[in-house]
Amino acid sequence: MDFSVSPRIEDFRQRIERFVAAQVLPLEADRSHYDAHDNIRPEVLEPLRARARAEGLWCLQLAPESGGQGLGKVGMAVCYEAMNRSIFGPVVFNSAAPDDGNMMVLEKVATPAQKERWLAPIVAGKVRSAFAMTEPHPGSGSDPSMMLTTARRTGDRYVIEGRKWYITGAQDAQHFILMARTSDDPRKGLSAFLFDRSAPGWRIERRIPIMGPEEHGGHCELVFDGLEIPVSDLLMTEGDGLKLTQIRLGPARLTHCMRWLGLSKRCVEIARAYAEDRFAFGERLAKRESIQMMLGDLAMQIEIGRLLVMKAAWELDRGGFARKEVSMAKVHVANVLHKAADTAIQINGARGYSKDTPLEWIYRYARQARLVDGADDVHKMVLNRNLEAEGSDFWQWPVGT
Ligand SMILES: Cc1cc2nc3c(=O)[nH]c(=O)nc-3n(C[C@H](O)[C@H](O)[C@H](O)COP(=O)(O)OP(=O)(O)OC[C@H]3O[C@@H](n4cnc5c(N)ncnc54)[C@H](O)[C@@H]3O)c2cc1C
Repeated sequence: MDFSVSPRIEDFRQRIERFVAAQVLPLEADRSHYDAHDNIRPEVLEPLRARARAEGLWCLQLAPESGGQGLGKVGMAVCYEAMNRSIFGPVVFNSAAPDDGNMMVLEKVATPAQKERWLAPIVAGKVRSAFAMTEPHPGSGSDPSMMLTTARRTGDRYVIEGRKWYITGAQDAQHFILMARTSDDPRKGLSAFLFDRSAPGWRIERRIPIMGPEEHGGHCELVFDGLEIPVSDLLMTEGDGLKLTQIRLGPARLTHCMRWLGLSKRCVEIARAYAEDRFAFGERLAKRESIQMMLGDLAMQIEIGRLLVMKAAWELDRGGFARKEVSMAKVHVANVLHKAADTAIQINGARGYSKDTPLEWIYRYARQARLVDGADDVHKMVLNRNLEAEGSDFWQWPVGT
């Protein structure tokens, strides 16, 4: 097995590392650069994005013909981790959710005309996007088969009725991917659509207040009462909604993990720096075995997460679906992020609980990781399904040629 990465990927990683250290961390350290929802203020962000673009560190996840660098998932794992050393990193490089996942799925399934209309402006950094799937009770959440939002075909249009919530970025998004029911067929009952913010027949009911910092555009509840979508803005074909969701969510979950590993490493970095400097009872904290055990354990958990992410990335790069690999990575890394923030706060004492470091930001943010894009419990249920189907083959190594 070869765990090395190519010199090209390492070059990107080093350039990102330098960019984050020199250009992003100094801004992150100054609270005046934060907006009302604890994200980077747009007027501070835009010049940074322009610089990242000028340096060729933009949309690394996409193929060159789409305006990216064609790094592949393994390369992305290396680079996304480096970006998210700063809480503001991914959005600077146009690699933050939900645009990241939306761009990747559009690149994969949209027609050339749809790419021109819907993808290119996101790649150019001119517009933001959102992915609208989750609904309030009794609609679709963990179980997409419960979807209640309908798309009724009349002539060359679909008419949308229903409600969505927790739609990340909706308040600032121009382009939306929307999931709706087109029939009662259990496998082919859902379809995916594109619509523009300016279209009539829908509204943002409210921006839902959450415990953590917010992506630009927040997390919103949307109401659809007659939105008309032309047939040309159907993604894939009618009935392919579940398929599109799987195409989008697999890689998008994994890129969450890649970023969360960067945040986890940042927690360790802040904890180590404090433990090195701080004395208590005549000894540096770093010399205490209990602190060493905490940090050693975190280092190991992060490395386990990196291996799970790399295995899934490798599987995706060689054309597999990596469903169980992504599920295992998602559960493990979401919990590692939570533990890393918690441990780092403990080691930093009162300082960890303050806003003098990003630890409290990461701690509040981390709680969502165990819910979004599939709660831990749902991924474990899916893993058990695999176990039941495969038995001991669950752990089989793929055989090379
Ligand atoms: C910050 C944030 C951002 C989000 N962004 C988006 C977005 O951009 N677009 C979008 O469409 N959605 C978004 N969501 C919604 C998110 O994807 C859903 O919250 C998630 O899929 C779970 O659905 P639910 O909240 O309806 O939970 P429910 O389906 O109501 O489940 C509640 C809990 O029940 C448990 N549970 C469910 N099923 C099982 C099972 N089979 N076995 C055992 N336990 C189970 C789990 O613990 C789960 O957390 C976002 C959510 C948050 C918090």
